[in-house]
Amino acid sequence: MRFTVAIDGPAAAGKGTISKAVAKEFGFAHLDTGALYRAVGVKAASGMDPVEAAQTLTPADTVGEALRTLEAGQAASKVAVIPEVRAALLEFQRRFADQEGGAVLDGRDIGTVICPNADVKLFVTASAEVRAHRRWLELGGDEAEVLAQVKERDDRDMNRADAPLRPAVDAILIDTSDLSIDAAVALATAAIRAKLA
Ligand code: C5P
Repeated sequence: MRFTVAIDGPAAAGKGTISKAVAKEFGFAHLDTGALYRAVGVKAASGMDPVEAAQTLTPADTVGEALRTLEAGQAASKVAVIPEVRAALLEFQRRFADQEGGAVLDGRDIGTVICPNADVKLFVTASAEVRAHRRWLELGGDEAEVLAQVKERDDRDMNRADAPLRPAVDAILIDTSDLSIDAAVALATAAIRAKLA
């Protein structure tokens, strides 16, 4: 069986948590596509050509704590505006989505560009303040600075020419500003179960 779930949305809206939970619930494979851009961003920040970094990326490059920092997120969103970087990462994501047994991909352009025919598309969002507060609880630092970085990244992701962050027309919107994790996961699970039935 092939079944693709596309989960898009801005930073710290809860996509990752929801994706992992639904992948576990349905036994689907999960790909955090942000990790691909983070890995390219970190390599570019240390001097490598970003297009070359994307073309030569290996699975081992996409794991590790160094990718989870605010700086890695910023570096990711800078290389993510480069069309050749996005093109280099596209086939890998599509192959992952098309695997036997079902797949969940989370990112910014999964429902719009990578998997326009996904079986279920979710757009997970929350206010910038709520998202910044979550990131601050996770990473510490100055909360106002975290909020400024979240807004800067939203702005870059939403306003780039190639594959900007926006909900697919057929995406189900989940606003997690006032939702518990369990409630958000329950909404996502129900949407997938309805489509599988
Ligand atoms: O989701 P995460 O915060 O790890 O993503 C880091 C950055 O990578 C995003 O801000 C965005 O610029 C970029 N990205 C993207 N397309 C995706 C996933 C992430 O442009 N599918």
